[in-house]
Amino acid sequence: MRLDKSKEVFDKTKRYIPGGVNSPIRAFKNLSITPPVISKGKGCRIFDIDGNEYIDFVLSWGAMILGHCDPDVVNSIKEVVEDQIAFGAPTEIEYKMAKLVCETAQIDMVRFVNSGTEATMTAVRLAKGYTGKKKIVKFAGCYHGHHDIFLKEAGSAVAELRLKGIDEDIVQNTIVVEYNNLDSVEKAFKENKDEIAAVIIEPVAGNMGVVPAKKEFLQALREICNLHGSLLIFDEVITGFRLSLKGARALYDVEPDLITFGKIIGGGLPCGAVGGKKEIMQCLAPQGNVFQAGTMSGNPIVMSAGYATIKKLKENPHFYGNLEMLAGKLEKELTQVFSNSNLTFCINRVGSMLTIFFGVEKVENFEMAKMSDLDLFRSFAEYMIKNHIYVPSSQFEAMFLSVAHSENDVEKFVEIAEEFCSSKRK
Ligand code: PMP
Repeated sequence: MRLDKSKEVFDKTKRYIPGGVNSPIRAFKNLSITPPVISKGKGCRIFDIDGNEYIDFVLSWGAMILGHCDPDVVNSIKEVVEDQIAFGAPTEIEYKMAKLVCETAQIDMVRFVNSGTEATMTAVRLAKGYTGKKKIVKFAGCYHGHHDIFLKEAGSAVAELRLKGIDEDIVQNTIVVEYNNLDSVEKAFKENKDEIAAVIIEPVAGNMGVVPAKKEFLQALREICNLHGSLLIFDEVITGFRLSLKGARALYDVEPDLITFGKIIGGGLPCGAVGGKKEIMQCLAPQGNVFQAGTMSGNPIVMSAGYATIKKLKENPHFYGNLEMLAGKLEKELTQVFSNSNLTFCINRVGSMLTIFFGVEKVENFEMAKMSDLDLFRSFAEYMIKNHIYVPSSQFEAMFLSVAHSENDVEKFVEIAEEFCSSKRK
């Protein structure tokens, strides 16, 4: 595969943008190939400026659940863009979108922001304002955006960095505990009695690779929060509208107090949201005194693209069933391929999000994820991308499917994975 033009543009970009990217994971720091510079996306395929075509299993890190440039989403943008770009004033599409999100995800109220980071930051401020407490509990390996308070032992691109520039005074109020380990949560509550404003968790983690929370664990978190007067925040930036219309919480039958959204909610445009119970949400300014604002929040083009996306998910009763079938096929066939090659591995999958870990038999938390064979994963990711299957370059990310993928696309993935295994045997 030739990436000459991509390399040229990427090298030129580095002169002006640190590392050549606007978000670290895109730089392929782990791999020895240059990141393809993408020029087009259609359905489940993306194309680079060298003329290479890839089947995309990254999907803008989960955002493009309908595939790239879905015609309804494109039209929804075209419909508004002639008349409405930005006002910083109320628009009717905000009302329509808020109603659709609240009714679909079954929440009382919502506030739109511009990213997942803003959503989680707002959720935590709300929790602190509502409870009058100052500490938060987060889980090692979960990623909630790039605000200081969340970067302690975070997953995703943070996992492989030694961080600088973090305000330690603020971070003191973040308590990190182990995913799926109730004892560590109980210990945190015991040691910080009456001080914990909220527990924030990805109910299915996507940022240490895919690691599902155990149902009893999430249910116990709900009880502990109730007992101590702390809020439970589900960070559904990845899982919201991906695992079901009601997100991961429908799978677990646990109701958090606040939920954060991102990615899918904006149909591929910059968007995030925090939503939840009215009693808490109405503490936000101007109704209450917890301040939060944004010049671009609720932007009409973004709202329109998000509206078209969620409407489409809602109108197709087979949507999540189809995704489950495709992703199930991928899991099953990959399991076969890796087993035939006598590899030790585990595949964690929930719905249409999936991660392959090599060298380990199960992964239930960040420590276990870090014990997997990171070198083998790197060579796998590189092999797949070189062979036109676009997968996350890092172990600590999830792979995604969209409804634009077909069984053929899944079979192509499996075929290349099989080739990778044979190349290792040689
Ligand atoms: N929460 C989770 C669970 C995420 O996966 C991410 C981003 N991958 C964020 C928050 C932050 O979202 P954003 O990158 O839009 O700021």
